[in-house]
Amino acid sequence: MSDVKMMALDVHKSFGENHVLKGIDMTVKRGEVSCLLGPSGSGKSTFLRCINHLETIDSGRIEVDGELIGYREQGDKLYELHPRAAAKQRENIGMVFQRFNLFPHMTSLENIMCSPVFVKREGKAAAKQTALELLDRVGLGDKAESYPAELSGGQQQRIAIARALAMKPDLMLFDEPTSALDPELVGEVLEVMKSLAESGMTMIVVTHEMGFAREVADTVTFMDGGVVVEQGSPDEVLGNPQHGRTKAFLSKVL
Ligand code: ADP
Ligand code: MG
Repeated sequence: MSDVKMMALDVHKSFGENHVLKGIDMTVKRGEVSCLLGPSGSGKSTFLRCINHLETIDSGRIEVDGELIGYREQGDKLYELHPRAAAKQRENIGMVFQRFNLFPHMTSLENIMCSPVFVKREGKAAAKQTALELLDRVGLGDKAESYPAELSGGQQQRIAIARALAMKPDLMLFDEPTSALDPELVGEVLEVMKSLAESGMTMIVVTHEMGFAREVADTVTFMDGGVVVEQGSPDEVLGNPQHGRTKAFLSKVL
């Protein structure tokens, strides 16, 4: 098996006249943590959503485990997959958003069990067992019966991570998972993400948490205006940026 987990090649995406992604190239190796940085509006969320085909792309290609995402190839043309086939691909790719978007009328346990039971048709007992293990893993073993409204933002986000992990993904996408949290709650979520990284999960993380990027990332990609400006190790990109745009951005967030 190749050691490349996700490969994006010359990905373009427009919303109407707005050319948002202008040829994104990015490779993430198996087991790597890749942090994606860039100013607001640079296309980070759009790119992340393209990786699990929540957005179509206009040209280029995205592969996960060597499999073309969202399309099938015939000759030199790409045809969009049936929604059911795209959903199947998405099952292996977990995503955590800025807003925790848990189901408010379900307990933590029910939130975590819901996709395995209803999407994957797992037995309830097995799904519950996995959910309880995941609750422990995110440090919320005592919150199984709590509803989202009874939890802090940091706890809700940890439940959201557990819920994504319940589908047993082998690639996790995080879109600014801590930016909606009160500052004192950021650390507990980053800790869970760090331990997930240490367990060998491949992760692509959009974040403004420079400490996390420095400590946990294998590669850092800086995007601006829909292009990759700079890519490299955290030491290179954060410690010794080469481009004016990277320097300007870092001087604002550091
Ligand atoms: P970032 O996550 O880096 O802040 P986004 O990917 O959210 O950037 O947005 C990039 C650009 O794409 C913005 O100009 C935004 O308005 C536009 N955009 C994002 N999603 C949509 C959409 N669903 N429809 C139209 N425009 C969108
Ligand atoms: Mg965004």
